[in-house]
Amino acid sequence: VRAATADRPLWWEDVELPEGSDEGLPSEVDAVVIGGGYTGVTAARELARRGRAVVVLEKEQLGYGASTRNAGFVHPGLKASAAKLEAKGAPGRALLGAGRDAFALLERLIAEEQIDCDFRRDGRLVLAHSEHALEHLRELERTYHDGLHEHARIVPRAELAGVTAATGFHGALEIELGATLQPAKYYAGLARAAAAAGARLFAHTPATSLDRLPGGGFRVGTPRGSVEARDVLVATNGYTDSLFPELRRRVIPIGSFIVATERLDQERAALVSPPGSPGRALLDTRNFLHYWRLSSDSRLVFGGRASFRPSADAQAAEVLEQAMLSIYPQLRGVRIEYDWNGKVAFTFDRLPHFGRVRGVTFALGYCGSGVGLSTYFGTLAGAWIAGEEPPAFAGMRFPTAPLYRGTPWFLPAVGLWYQLLDRVR
Ligand SMILES: Cc1cc2nc3c(=O)[nH]c(=O)nc-3n(C[C@H](O)[C@H](O)[C@H](O)COP(=O)(O)OP(=O)(O)OC[C@H]3O[C@@H](n4cnc5c(N)ncnc54)[C@H](O)[C@@H]3O)c2cc1C
Repeated sequence: VRAATADRPLWWEDVELPEGSDEGLPSEVDAVVIGGGYTGVTAARELARRGRAVVVLEKEQLGYGASTRNAGFVHPGLKASAAKLEAKGAPGRALLGAGRDAFALLERLIAEEQIDCDFRRDGRLVLAHSEHALEHLRELERTYHDGLHEHARIVPRAELAGVTAATGFHGALEIELGATLQPAKYYAGLARAAAAAGARLFAHTPATSLDRLPGGGFRVGTPRGSVEARDVLVATNGYTDSLFPELRRRVIPIGSFIVATERLDQERAALVSPPGSPGRALLDTRNFLHYWRLSSDSRLVFGGRASFRPSADAQAAEVLEQAMLSIYPQLRGVRIEYDWNGKVAFTFDRLPHFGRVRGVTFALGYCGSGVGLSTYFGTLAGAWIAGEEPPAFAGMRFPTAPLYRGTPWFLPAVGLWYQLLDRVR
């Protein structure tokens, strides 16, 4: 029997999400931002602070997308190794630095805007599901040392019990640069900061058409009327719809699912992370990865890509509960009180992308690691539209695949392939 709170993010209980403007939509502004998640509201904040008239159009309630549904892990966030990024030259090197800069910007914004979001910098623990995966973690350790100059250390299998009671792993990488936060509170703080700076945020206002104006600029249509602007930013990530066929062909929306248990007593909470670091983020190395943490009220929040198939949520919650119990058998009998999901945007090169297509600015494709990066990309997009130079990674080649139009027909097959790899490697 599913709890009454099924299908509802735990984070929504503990926050007042802003409702948005109740004024009419202006007919003309400097910039229209489409999508009201972290990317959209940080861009709007930046533009408004620089004196630009800006509106954010959000199809659903503000923060409806991944920005209030994620696990709240903050980390540099790039899936590629330092070597792969170095091979891309200046844009790759700039992107490598972006992960760390994003982390720093997020910390600065929380302080500057006084965002109360349970931010805790207790590091990260990446657990190897196989010997082969442990080798990869050694490579990642070097990326942190050499590429980012950050501290990371391998925890051998024999010492794992000292850092977590998680079972079934071959060792881990403990990374200092890592934090967790309450994602919806962080979102609400950013959205309020954007509004306080003068941006106007419109909920339940989908962009339904985009036309180029003869004299330059764009007209964006919505059910509430249209708005004209010199610049448009697309900040729709895993929720990108058919309004942007060029972008839809380049991002692969993938569902990610989370369950949260009832509150754990101290003894059970200590199985997950040591009492001195309750804000620690944990994850494993599987392609079908699992990630977990404690919430500030001591629930285990456990997420994963339960399936590449669009499966029923109830089924996903069950799959996750089984995975959680295989890692922490001691939690048998603990109730699952929440389950929910959201969409992340993967890309064919597993890198985020920032650029312009036919004059429209975009920032998306964070591949499931966008809390820090979307904050950073949004802020940079706002600055770029306001006239600053773009970063060196702007306009990096953004690959698509033949026959791909935005419906990921190949995912079930890819999913089976990854499941097989997880078993053999
Ligand atoms: C379950 C889950 C767990 C995650 N965990 C982590 C984590 O721990 N750490 C991490 O770094 N990242 C994590 N992520 C990823 C992270 O949440 C995202 O990368 C980030 O929130 C992206 O922000 P965004 O603003 O770009 O997109 P979103 O927050 O997804 O916002 C896009 C918005 O665009 C709107 N939209 C779409 N089309 C239109 C339109 N035509 N008109 C108007 N609005 C439109 C949508 O309604 C949506 O609200 C997770 C994601 C999920 C789903």
